[in-house]
Amino acid sequence: METKRVLIVEDERELAELVRLHLEDLGCDVSLAHDGAEGLDLALSGTFDLVVLDLMLPRLDGLEICRRLRQAPSYTPILMLTAKSTELDRVLGLEVGADDYLTKPFSIRELTARVKAIFRRVEALGVAREEDGRSLIEVGGFCIDKSRRTATLTGRELQLTAKEFDLLAHFARHPGRVYRRAELLDRVWGYGHDGYEHTVNSHINRLRAKIEDDPSEPRYVLTVWGVGYKFFDGRSFASGGNGAQAQGLR
Ligand code: CA
Repeated sequence: METKRVLIVEDERELAELVRLHLEDLGCDVSLAHDGAEGLDLALSGTFDLVVLDLMLPRLDGLEICRRLRQAPSYTPILMLTAKSTELDRVLGLEVGADDYLTKPFSIRELTARVKAIFRRVEALGVAREEDGRSLIEVGGFCIDKSRRTATLTGRELQLTAKEFDLLAHFARHPGRVYRRAELLDRVWGYGHDGYEHTVNSHINRLRAKIEDDPSEPRYVLTVWGVGYKFFDGRSFASGGNGAQAQGLR
C-alpha cells in the first residue's frame, strides 16, 4: 500500500494519539488537529486520503466540517467518530457525507478494519485523474470525461442527456455514498424544493435504462430503501455488505 495521508480531528488528545499510533503502524502519514476550525482548514488545504473526524469538537463540530468538505471539489473519505449512539446521529453522519462511522468506545481492531476497508474501496473504485487537460473519472467500467461531457461503459459510448450525465458524474465521484432524493436535487439540479423528488426518480430510471443490463435488477445505481440511491460501491454487487451504509440505513 502506498503511503496514505490521514488527518485526525479529535479534541480528546489521548484518543487522538492512540489513533495516530495505530494508523502509523498501518504505514499512514498522520496529521492531527484538536479543534474543528483547525481541522477544517487542514482538511481543505491538504491532500488527505482520509479524515478521521470526531463529531463533538470545539469551535466547529464534525457535521459542519463534513458538510463543508463535501462542498469542496475533491472527494476526501471521512470516517466519523461519535460518542452518541442514537440512530439519528448515525444517519445524520451519512446525510452530511461521512463514508463510515464508529461509535465510541471502539476497539483499535475495529478502527483499523474500517480504515483499511475505506482505502480498499477508494482504490478499487473512483480514480479521478487529469489527462491532457481533461478531467476523467474511472469507476466500475465507466470512463467519464467531464471536460467533453462524454461517458463510456466498457468502451461503449453512452448517449446521455445533460442531466443524466450530471447525475452519473456526481454518483461516480462518490461511489458507495447514500443520497437522499432531495440531496441529489440540491447537488445535481441546484435546488432542493420538496415535492420534486419524482424528477430524480424519473431521471434515475432513464439513466438505468441506458447503463444497466437489466434496469429492474440494477448493478450500478442502487436503491437504498426508505432513503434514496447510491452508486455501485465495489462490493462485487453483493447485497448487504458491511459498514455504515448497510447497517445504519434500511
Ligand atoms: Ca470530542
